Amino acid sequence: MTHEKIREMIGDWLDGELDAPARAAVSAHLDACPACDAEAARLRRLGPALFRAPVRPDPRSTEAFVSRVMARVEADSVSAWERFAARVLAPALGLALAGLVFAIAMPDPDEDAPLGVAAVSADAGSAFEVAP
Ligand SMILES: [Zn+2]
Repeated sequence: MTHEKIREMIGDWLDGELDAPARAAVSAHLDACPACDAEAARLRRLGPALFRAPVRPDPRSTEAFVSRVMARVEADSVSAWERFAARVLAPALGLALAGLVFAIAMPDPDEDAPLGVAAVSADAGSAFEVAP
């Protein structure tokens, strides 16, 4: 049997789940192979740790943990809003204000006949024409 096949069987060998011939084959291999025997010893040490009962969380430490996390989340959300206001909102408002000042300060090129009104009236005149 190969080392890989033996190592796949070590867990079942430790749990006593192999039939007699397989158990004998694994035992004989472990007696002759120091590497696979070391793997068996490692799994034997890990076994109790893997099947140990889970530790129940202390409710007081859980509440303290939750309150620390929530305080951190609230602090982060405030600073995120402040970062957004500083990086995006303030420059956008500045640009909008500059545009407004520019629009007010610029003289109208043709105050008597605004282009917008002329275009609208031309469209309105052609819209009511009836094709023969
Ligand atoms: Zn081996």
